[in-house]
Amino acid sequence: MQHSGLSMRAALEGIAPPREIAQVVVELPLETPLDYRIPPALRPGCRIGQRVLVPLGKRQVLGYIVGLASTSTVADLKELVEILDETPLLTPALLQLTHWIAEYYLCPWGQVLKAAVPEGFRVQTEAVYTLTAKAQDDSEAWPQGRAGEVLQCLARYGTQLQHELERLLEVQDLAPWLRRLEQQDLVLRQQQRLAPKTQPRLVTVVRLRLSSAEAETLRQQLQPRSPNQAAVLALLQEQPVWELTALRQRCPGAPAAVKRLATRAAVDVTQVEKMRAVVPSASIFASSLPTLNQAQQHALWQIETRLASAESAPVLLYGVTGSGKTEVYMRAIATALRQGKTALVLVPEIALTDQLVERFVARFASQIAVLHSGLSAGERFDEWRRLASGEARIAIGARSAVFAPLDNLGLIVVDEEHDTSYKQEETPRYHARDVAIVRAQQCRAVVVLGSATPALETFHNARSGKYLALSLPQRVEDKPLPSITVIDQRAHATPNERVISTPLYQAIAACLQRQEQCLILINRRGFASYLQCRDCGVVPQCAHCSVSLTYHRRDRTLKCHYCDASQPAPSVCVACSSPALYPFGLGTQQVEEVLRALFPTARLARMDRDTTRAKAAHQRILRTLGNGDIDILVGTQMIAKGHDYPNITLVGVVSADATLAIPDFRAPERLFQLLTQVAGRAGRGQVHGHVFLQTYRPEHYSIAFAQHHDFTGFFHDEIQRRQAMLYPPYTRLARLIIDSPDAVRAEEASRWLGAVLQRSIPHPQHATLLGPAEAPIAKIKDRHRWHMLLKATSSRALHQWLKDTLAETYQERDQLRAARISVDIDPVTFL
Ligand code: ADP
Ligand code: ZN
Ligand code: ZN
Repeated sequence: MQHSGLSMRAALEGIAPPREIAQVVVELPLETPLDYRIPPALRPGCRIGQRVLVPLGKRQVLGYIVGLASTSTVADLKELVEILDETPLLTPALLQLTHWIAEYYLCPWGQVLKAAVPEGFRVQTEAVYTLTAKAQDDSEAWPQGRAGEVLQCLARYGTQLQHELERLLEVQDLAPWLRRLEQQDLVLRQQQRLAPKTQPRLVTVVRLRLSSAEAETLRQQLQPRSPNQAAVLALLQEQPVWELTALRQRCPGAPAAVKRLATRAAVDVTQVEKMRAVVPSASIFASSLPTLNQAQQHALWQIETRLASAESAPVLLYGVTGSGKTEVYMRAIATALRQGKTALVLVPEIALTDQLVERFVARFASQIAVLHSGLSAGERFDEWRRLASGEARIAIGARSAVFAPLDNLGLIVVDEEHDTSYKQEETPRYHARDVAIVRAQQCRAVVVLGSATPALETFHNARSGKYLALSLPQRVEDKPLPSITVIDQRAHATPNERVISTPLYQAIAACLQRQEQCLILINRRGFASYLQCRDCGVVPQCAHCSVSLTYHRRDRTLKCHYCDASQPAPSVCVACSSPALYPFGLGTQQVEEVLRALFPTARLARMDRDTTRAKAAHQRILRTLGNGDIDILVGTQMIAKGHDYPNITLVGVVSADATLAIPDFRAPERLFQLLTQVAGRAGRGQVHGHVFLQTYRPEHYSIAFAQHHDFTGFFHDEIQRRQAMLYPPYTRLARLIIDSPDAVRAEEASRWLGAVLQRSIPHPQHATLLGPAEAPIAKIKDRHRWHMLLKATSSRALHQWLKDTLAETYQERDQLRAARISVDIDPVTFL
């Protein structure tokens, strides 16, 4: 991407080169921008960052101008067709950011732009067909049959889209005939831009043109014979401007009456854009702000100092659950706004509840724009434009909001920075927290990473001085953290007790009696085939990779999905020699049923992937919980975060250790985070909270440290393992996923690619390859999956290794035999 790099710099430095050639990135997996000649008429209006239509093969596609130049190395340049924006949609800052993502995550720039720009800005074209002059001149020479029918159709109805022709002739696929007719020069194929699916929403506005005296006179004249017009006039006397729909609500005959009034020149009728309302109007307005405690004050002061100096090293705000982090964010945002800057707040998708948005709206009202996946295309389109125009100055959103079009950005907050939902699991596989850090660096903004359980990498950076570390060690108003009891499941044998132990049962009963609420978390992922000893709780591990071995029922083997080692499943526990070694897994429904049987009168709700498919279902369940209409909420990981309800006093976790069996070197860290987060939901009100963790591995360090709310203890323990096993933050990782509809091809292609990578290892001391191995989820959507892990001591070494090798493999495509390679830099899942 050399050209683009150069012209990017030119754009940023404000140098205006002669503009004959536009370098355009299209939303397709192409490695470099394409050059197009700009027709002279379009040259004066051509700007970097504009959307354009360009010819590509036989089609016309949407592209973005990323550079302007005076020369090109390509000989026969095609011409740019149309410029779609007057003001560029993409600012130089967004181009710079997306370009960085493309380089760092090794993916095409066009695909990054596709992820960054809302659907509503997309433009599509379709081919239309017309009779050529030759065909019109000589209808005698028309072919017979289907082709002839096409020509007759075009002669009768004029220019048509392909699918319209197909409908008229009642035929499935006309493409082959149209191609032949085009070759015979009987039809002409052209591209036509389709009307955009998303457009500004217009409303009809009625405005009174008369003085009040004139209006009153007219109203009295109209009253006897035209009561509707008189009624509308009366409303306009109350308030001179109305939306037509509002008038119609008050007076059903309003539309016709308004037309009459307009012909009398009594009113003006205009079409005005009305943005779709996304941000709820606040039900509570912040009347008085809480007085910050000392830790909050210190943190705020440090952030404000950075805001004033525009120093962009990241800030870690490590604060226990309920310590008032959000309050600190809001004060810092207020400061940024006072300085005339804008702010961006990233939260995990699941935490983007009404509750959080309401708190921000109560403080900042309509300055907020919200961006998340639950919005319709139209809503997203409008929120984006409100930010771009400066009408809204604070963007709150999930992962992709990191691309929010904010100018003069002063502050970026990444709440729950450790959350894995910040990583996009399809191309471009970017991590929004890391992109936020880069964005802050590029525009000299302050970035605050907040969490009660920072990612190990983040805390490591804070301790080494790379980030500024701030902490809120106590809950607000000195509320205590909940007490946590660990229940040893190995002692509980009856099937029902294996689901809900006696101590947890008693605690739930007491909680219900006090009319308080409880959460029951089932710690599981869909993926759950592992062996566990029912006597000592141990799950067999790979000796080389420090991840759990996966149990394959079919051939009764244990397999490592990092290094591909495989062994027959043992018949007794490796740790205690007990024969009680069983495959494990517990479902949400099973737990729900047991709870229903135990507490038949309790109001029970379940929150998992099945019950939250519908739009906003997650919010609805939490709202019901907040209203006090649920006594027991059972659910998966998604009940653990993003809410703050004072009446929740009990949290129970069944199968606390289950996710430790996931073959992922971060499984212990994830478990510690999850337990700490879910415990953090308990006892936020006046009543002390209790947490019960049921587990087969009570002595596991993740559980022990979580029990004592000891994040730093956990960190020190875990960081040593990372160092010993050479995992991040001591190394950088990339994962390659190879998949194909054909199992043999997937395996052969991976083995071939693995050998190439092995041969080209830059320095064996600084880099290693793990695998290839079959991926733990061996098949997704009928594609067989293999993967391998690349480890290197520096990001630069890793990139060099990968870039060189991938360039080589692209030249030897046939070795890959149509298998698909995906590159995942800094991967967070290994399934
Ligand atoms: P966190 O984001 O760290 O979990 P929140 O910011 O949500 O914590 O704070 C928890 C609750 O405490 C909120 O209801 C918030 O309004 C309240 N709160 C925050 N700071 C203070 C304070 N200094 N004094 C009293 N209440 C506070
Ligand atoms: Zn055992
Ligand atoms: Zn292994």
